[in-house]
Amino acid sequence: MDTTVQNDIESRAACGVLTIDLAALVANYEQLVRRAAPSRAAAVVKADAYGLGVAHVAPALYNAGCRDFFVAHFIEALRLKPYLRSDARILVLNGLLPGSEDDCAALGIVPVLNSLEQVTNWSATARALGKTLPAAIQVDTGMSRLGLEPAEVDTLLAEPERLAGVHVEIIMSHLACGDEPEHDANPRQLGRMQAVRQRFADAKLSFANSAGIFLGEDYRGDLARPGIALYGGAPLAEGDNPMQPVVRLEVRVVQTRTVPSGAEIGYGASFVARSEMRLATIAAGYADGLPRHLSNKGAAYFGNVRLPIVGRVSMDSIILDVTALEPGTLKLGSMVELIGPHQTLETVAADAGTISYEILTSLGRRYERRYLSPAAR
Ligand SMILES: *Cc1c(COP(=O)(O)O)cnc(C)c1O
Repeated sequence: MDTTVQNDIESRAACGVLTIDLAALVANYEQLVRRAAPSRAAAVVKADAYGLGVAHVAPALYNAGCRDFFVAHFIEALRLKPYLRSDARILVLNGLLPGSEDDCAALGIVPVLNSLEQVTNWSATARALGKTLPAAIQVDTGMSRLGLEPAEVDTLLAEPERLAGVHVEIIMSHLACGDEPEHDANPRQLGRMQAVRQRFADAKLSFANSAGIFLGEDYRGDLARPGIALYGGAPLAEGDNPMQPVVRLEVRVVQTRTVPSGAEIGYGASFVARSEMRLATIAAGYADGLPRHLSNKGAAYFGNVRLPIVGRVSMDSIILDVTALEPGTLKLGSMVELIGPHQTLETVAADAGTISYEILTSLGRRYERRYLSPAAR
């Protein structure tokens, strides 16, 4: 079938519209580049570009000048590669599982080596191929998640043959508490990173995530690695969000009704009407990435009017209290806003007891996805 026809059918059939503003994404990248200067800024595009679609996000960032792309898993690197030109560098944060080294080398993808075992495997691959292979080395400076411990860095430097055939392009670490600028883990991690960094004189330093870019010059290193801020999420836990919103989510009304006082609403009858209420049922639920923790807690908006969620979030639907609207305002097919100008990503995340990252990466596949082109501004 003709793809335009297909798109028309999909757009009429979808339960809601997820609009992804690539112009805002590019503006956010440009803002981060300015803030990180003279350091360069990579882009973290793991988890399908935080749920927004790496096939659209990566080319937009490439065209905005980004040349370094971080993913978490090697399989994501494989899937990303076709969307980038050969002068872009793809780095795999979680490093390689045994057996993928030859594929990684053949594709020119750069692993982040997180353990001496991964160093050994990558060096063996390089020697077997008779080539020098690029790598990043991650050091654990206090998060206890991924990376060599400082003592293992000592081992590596004392026995340089362990790195035979490996060119260490980047030395990196990751902040555990960067979104809390006053947290004393930040200077502690920075101190450890600076000590290690001096011992890899030729490598570039990559340290700051989105939050790190806002912590001041010391934290920037040579190559920042922003993720969430690109996608419009607030880089810091407190204060105004300086990033432009990238995501807007609108969901369709599939039924409206008026219920009497005493009516039980939703699974488990967790909400009972205390007076007559007008309700609207909308066509998205936890299977579409609207967490069940929003039950009796979150809201949608119609214009400026807040429409509280009543009862439990179901798999495919949510019931809203629309009593605040004039009767008949919402009809079958009307759209209400879940994320947008009246309700930020952070508000939805807070209502759901989670973080913006989890809301974005959970956004469902049943919405129509509309990408606003980077050239639209
Ligand atoms: C996810 C991730 C990032 C990006 O972090 P944001 O807080 O989204 O900017 C950077 N570095 C590493 C190692 C990560 O895992």
